[in-house]
Amino acid sequence: MPEKYDVLIIGAGPAGVTTALKLAGSGLKIAIFDKDQFPREKTCGDGLTLDVINQLSLVSDRLADEFLKFSKKLPSYEALLFSPDFSRIRIPYLMKNENKPIYTCRRVDFDNLLFRQLKQYPNINVFENCKIGSIEFSETNAMLTANGVEFEGSIVVGANGANSMLARQLGLNRIGREHQAVGLTAYYIGVKPLNQKNPIEIYFLKDILPGYLWIFHLADGKANIGVGMLATAISEKKIDFKKKFEELLSTEPLKTRLANASREGGVKGHTLPLGFNNREISGNRFLLTGDAAALIDPLTGEGVGNAIRSGRVAAEHIVECFKTNNFSPQFNKAYDTEIYRRLLPEYKMNLFIQKLCKYPGLLNFFIGSAYSHIEIENGFNQAMVYMQTNSAIGKIKFILKTLYVFTLLNLFVSIFHKKTGR
Ligand SMILES: Cc1cc2nc3c(=O)[nH]c(=O)nc-3n(C[C@H](O)[C@H](O)[C@H](O)COP(=O)(O)OP(=O)(O)OC[C@H]3O[C@@H](n4cnc5c(N)ncnc54)[C@H](O)[C@@H]3O)c2cc1C
Repeated sequence: MPEKYDVLIIGAGPAGVTTALKLAGSGLKIAIFDKDQFPREKTCGDGLTLDVINQLSLVSDRLADEFLKFSKKLPSYEALLFSPDFSRIRIPYLMKNENKPIYTCRRVDFDNLLFRQLKQYPNINVFENCKIGSIEFSETNAMLTANGVEFEGSIVVGANGANSMLARQLGLNRIGREHQAVGLTAYYIGVKPLNQKNPIEIYFLKDILPGYLWIFHLADGKANIGVGMLATAISEKKIDFKKKFEELLSTEPLKTRLANASREGGVKGHTLPLGFNNREISGNRFLLTGDAAALIDPLTGEGVGNAIRSGRVAAEHIVECFKTNNFSPQFNKAYDTEIYRRLLPEYKMNLFIQKLCKYPGLLNFFIGSAYSHIEIENGFNQAMVYMQTNSAIGKIKFILKTLYVFTLLNLFVSIFHKKTGR
């Protein structure tokens, strides 16, 4: 006889765990499977944005509190963006003019913190070291076999990451290479933050545009250094990406920056499925979440916030499925609609900016102007605040307006003001 559950969740990363936690109070019987045993490593930049904290609190206040109490994270109060010609702009994380921190936290620790929360709920059964092969869907249920045991559920959540076997089985994993990025990362010792605000460092280097190299400092004093680039740009430029990463680290300005640094362990790489349009992410008795649904931000490469968002929205939708006893593809479309209602405008905007970031001259102009003129840097930061608080159309209008004002301001300031000479 199969073991019977209401919900079967494949993958216990941020997307899978938050689906389960959001469902914890529903009374539904949940099984969550992961191929690994926790704590487990995950190749990542280890950056957790303001959206991650916001999304955690929308899953539960308790979860957000657990994270805010967690000692293995480190706050960062600003980002430093470096142009290809090495000017830089300082960007504080302003929310309604208040400077809030983002955090860095090794994913092995962050994911384990989330994973541990599962154990306090008797209606959530956790299965580690359980790699799920295929799943059979019928009109009445979904069936899978894990470690020789059969499991039956009413609905399946595919939260099993970028190489999701469920997305593959259902033919929903076909993403053009122009919507995939490749990331490489390694841990370093001996790299100090550039100032007391512990800025994250983003380097737009000519050879890897429209991608970037990052330095994120961690709570244990080490740093996560990595590089991300569009898959199409890697093949067009015929780059050996790992070699390029090493080359960038040993040429200026990074050569001097990393003069006292040494690598701990090897370089790890992974693909990043980027969000771009409303591709199908649900069907008969299943929903895809997080990387399995390709929800990563196409500009920044951040995926943890959207993984948690999709886990929460999936859980809310699943409650409705049980209320109405409807698990059909038509009913599940409401899940896709809700995800894309929130994310599509952001994807469109960020894809547009990603395309602009291809041009070193443009980045030199923008970042260089802010570097030379404090007024422009301040204006740019105010623009970022405005962008957080307006609708998609408002944002697009604002960008066009900003481009116009920026050009005029740049001309005006160049003529009448002395450069700050930083
Ligand atoms: C190099 C790199 C740097 C990145 N940097 C950042 C960053 O700084 N900030 C950010 O927000 N995002 C970053 N991302 C993206 C981020 O890592 C992902 O978007 C995020 O991990 C997605 O969460 P998830 O839960 O969907 O998938 P995952 O975190 O990948 O979790 C999937 C889980 O499913 C399990 N699994 C897989 N297959 C099976 C199976 N068959 N059976 C059972 N279990 C299975 C895996 O073991 C895993 O635990 C980066 C990605 C890369 C590659």
